[in-house]
Amino acid sequence: MLNKIKLGISSCLLGQKVRYDGGHKWDRFITDTLGKFVEFVPVCPEAECGLGVPREAMRLEGDPSAPRLMTRRTREDHTELLARWAQEKVVRLEAEDLCGFIFKSDSPSSGMERVKVYNDRGMPVTKGVGVFARIFMEHFPLLPVEDEGRLHDPGLREHFIERLFTLKRWRQTLALGPSRGNLVDFHTRHKLLVLAHSPKHYRLLGKLVAQAKAMSLPQLYEQYQTGLMEASSLKTTVKKNVNVLLHAMGYFKKQLSAGEKEELLEVIENYRKGYIPLIVPVTLINHYVRKYDQAYLQSQYYLHPHPIELKLRNHV
Ligand code: SF4
Repeated sequence: MLNKIKLGISSCLLGQKVRYDGGHKWDRFITDTLGKFVEFVPVCPEAECGLGVPREAMRLEGDPSAPRLMTRRTREDHTELLARWAQEKVVRLEAEDLCGFIFKSDSPSSGMERVKVYNDRGMPVTKGVGVFARIFMEHFPLLPVEDEGRLHDPGLREHFIERLFTLKRWRQTLALGPSRGNLVDFHTRHKLLVLAHSPKHYRLLGKLVAQAKAMSLPQLYEQYQTGLMEASSLKTTVKKNVNVLLHAMGYFKKQLSAGEKEELLEVIENYRKGYIPLIVPVTLINHYVRKYDQAYLQSQYYLHPHPIELKLRNHV
């Protein structure tokens, strides 16, 4: 059983009234659905760095790769104030053991991408990164991050949440202490999940685990973690999922009746054609896993990567 996942979040998305105008940007999916499985660690860079609530509205200006954080009316430059605070904040956040961060989109402090940066003629280009978001992502390069706007896309949402759960399980394995057995157990359960993201990493990690005895434990863990994080950052596709589903079906070869095989192949094909969501073939495979008591597949996180209540894998 996983403890709650700790997730950093822009405070205004939780409904906290910390925006420049005293308002919020409450996101119900985040609080009401995702909130059941995560413990939020709210961060409002502008309010917490000393600018308070309410405050003057700000925007990014100048060079999109190193923009200034300017107040709109009085033209005050708060870049250094916010950046200094952010550098200290990320060090304090290390103790929180975060598994990811959800940023508020379009914010000059919290936006993680495509934030407007204005040139000296007052024209915006959407190429900026918020001052806090940039420092956070540089400090925690391996952590999954998203913004609430992108999380409305079902595919991006699913990918982000799956990464959170994978990272949490990895952290729990780390907490057990270094042992080849623990690593092999983790790897065995995540094989199909890794395969769904990257057949290349599936081979690489498999090879690494096979050579486990020849390596020192710190070296083994470090290389495994890098490979796992790289793999999980790559998106699954219909083609990769079909490959995994057929691979999983291979474990039933001898048990499935001809009719069951036909039905499963038909469902996989309908998924491939985009007629039905991934949850359908996965549910059917889970049904056979129970029916035939298939121990290896029972252990695969690919077949239950996150709680059903999150209603993921439900889109075509
Ligand atoms: S976007 Fe960021 S800085 Fe602005 S109110 Fe929300 S948390 Fe605070």
